[in-house]
Amino acid sequence: YLNVDGLSKSFGDLEVLKDIDLSIEKGKVLSIIGPSGSGKTTLLRCLNALELPNKGKFTFHDDFKVDFSGKISKKEVLNLRRKSGMVFQSYNLFPHKTALENVTEGPVIVQKRNKEKEKKYALELLTKVGLQDKANLYPHQLSGGQQQRVGIARALAIEPELMLFDEPTSALDPELIGDVLSVIKDLASENWTMAVVTHELQFAEQVSDEVIFMDGGYIVEQGPPEEVLKAPKEERTQQFLQRIL
Ligand code: ATP
Repeated sequence: YLNVDGLSKSFGDLEVLKDIDLSIEKGKVLSIIGPSGSGKTTLLRCLNALELPNKGKFTFHDDFKVDFSGKISKKEVLNLRRKSGMVFQSYNLFPHKTALENVTEGPVIVQKRNKEKEKKYALELLTKVGLQDKANLYPHQLSGGQQQRVGIARALAIEPELMLFDEPTSALDPELIGDVLSVIKDLASENWTMAVVTHELQFAEQVSDEVIFMDGGYIVEQGPPEEVLKAPKEERTQQFLQRIL
């Protein structure tokens, strides 16, 4: 479904992603784990073209290909960006817009869709994330967990083919984490295709079809959660899991 081949990304002299190959199948959940600084966020941002890789080929469905080794047009970047909806660690909501306006912003302004239709759809999405009664509140009137659920509704609003979550619960108080994870679990059970960077290993074990362990810009180990999380083959994976469990 999405196939990534030979993705590399450097910031100046610092090579953050080194020849990453991965694929995500339609309707499957891929979790990405690994120590701080291993390149997880950068990988997700590259998938969404928020960062442009220095090298690498992306193929969606076999019919949309981007090769970052050559020159990339603005249109290709926009097309790539529209394929995925990104949920950020720190929500990134517009502070002067209501929950509803935050959700309709992408589809109406960026994709120039019909305003009334989008509003109705945005309300459906807010209902889906359990915030139907908060549509007209501003971010500062919402808890962190509620803001993050608006963030999820906003990412869904562009009807992406792929949902990307960057440590979606790491900024939340422990008691608010469960609601956000349960929304993500619901999406997984509706067969959304997703990649999730997470430190929540129990969650990763429950929802993932595939887990990637990254360290130092490399994929060290990759496989089903019962292998990577429960019986890792690589020493670096074992050490990481021992440290955080
Ligand atoms: P964490 O779990 O702490 O979020 P991570 O695995 O997501 O870490 P990244 O955020 O991808 O790691 O960062 C990987 C490396 O790239 C780090 O050394 C970081 O300092 C560097 N880096 C990330 N973004 C930039 C940037 N825009 N400019 C320069 N260096 C960057």
